[in-house]
Order: sequence, then C-alpha cells, then structure tokens
Amino acid sequence: MKNIILIAAPAAGKGTLSELLVAKYGYVHISTGDLLRNVSKEDTELGRKISNMLKNGELVTDEIVFELLEDRLKKEDTFKGYILDGFPRTLSQALEYEKIINRLHRDLGIVIVLNTEYDTLKKRIIGRRLCSNCGSIYNVLTGENVPKEENTCDKCGGSLYRRSDDNEESFKTRYETYLEKTSPLIEYYKEKGNLFFVNSDNKEAMLKEIEVLLHD
Ligand code: AMP
Repeated sequence: MKNIILIAAPAAGKGTLSELLVAKYGYVHISTGDLLRNVSKEDTELGRKISNMLKNGELVTDEIVFELLEDRLKKEDTFKGYILDGFPRTLSQALEYEKIINRLHRDLGIVIVLNTEYDTLKKRIIGRRLCSNCGSIYNVLTGENVPKEENTCDKCGGSLYRRSDDNEESFKTRYETYLEKTSPLIEYYKEKGNLFFVNSDNKEAMLKEIEVLLHD
C-alpha cells in the first residue's frame, strides 16, 4: 500500500478520510494531533506545555513532534502502509521527514491535498464531536454524521466530546497558520511530482477519487 500524506486545512476531512481508509484497507492512521493530545493528558511539565499550545491553536515545537513521530514510525504495524494526518505542517517538517524516512527505510508515497470552502470548515469545527471511546467523528451542524442519540456514539455507545481547540477563536488561528505555514508545502510536493488534489465536500465522492489514485 502506498503511504499517504494528507495536507488540508483544519476540519477539511483528514480524520474522516483516514477512518474510511483504515476500515477499508487496513491502513495505519498516524495523526500527530492525536499523538500530542495523548501526551497533553499526562500530568507532567511536558503534558501541560503541550496542552496550552493545543488550546491556543499554536503549532507545537518541532523537536517534540519529530520525536513522537519517529517513535511511532518505528513500530512494526506501520510497515504495511500508513496515513500521515497533520504532518508535515511546515517546510522544515517536510525536510526533516525525509531524513526520518531515510533512516527508517520508508517511502514518501503520495501527497493528497483536500480542498473545502472556508464556511464549510468553520461549521465542521464548531459542530464536530468525537467519541471518547472509539474516536468516531460526528457533526451536529453540517447534517452529515449526526449522532442518532445526542452525545452518544452510534457505533459503541461511548460518550461524545468536543475538542478543546474546536472553537471559533482557535479555528481562526489554526486556519491562518495553515495558510501561512502549511500551504507552501503544496508547491514543494508539486515539484516532486507526487501531489494530488481532491475535493472533500462529499465523503463518498472523495473516497472514490482517492481509490483511483491508490490503485494507479
Ligand atoms: P490536528 O489534530 O491535526 O488538527 O492538530 C491539532 C493541534 O495539534 C494543532 O493545532 C497543533 O497545535 C498540534 N499539531 C498537530 N500536528 C502538528 C505538527 N505537525 N506540528 C506542530 N503542531 C502540530
């Protein structure tokens, strides 16, 4: 399976797409946001530092992210193919990533950019709810994936929660950071020739387009 790097604004559908590819093909989903959120729950100095950065929507320092990512990529399950969700987020991270995969003998694979309108992103962020047990993603505003019972996961009955950074203020910061720091990666990978654009307004159409890329 081809490794996949997802580049997209916050709530453009990276998590949803990853969920679909994990379920259908057995990809391993590596979200640096999830890795950081796990550490942020620890009652340590590092945990508190990360927790503050996440709440404010700021990027976490490279050294912390690189270490967490490299440790995760060393695990054997990632050999069969993985999706990188939320990394690289800057050009310096893209350069360091190439060093990491050289050390670990992994392929760069393909890079997919998910495109969605700003207003859709905002609705997705404000209405997003996650299952505290299985991680399933819902939305109470967009009409897509509305949980059948309020605050309860359809799949496992776990309780739903809202991410601490899923508010309007933090969304603005995260969106601006995306435009300023992450979107230059599009040019970078375009030059490498492994970049593809996919519209992520509709889940089924997005998956179909991506399956064509994966089977090419
Ligand atoms: P995400 O789950 O991808 O939306 O990421 C949530 C937050 O985690 C971001 O707003 C950043 O604060 C932090 N984060 C995730 N990935 C990275 C990364 N590659 N570099 C720096 N910070 C990150």
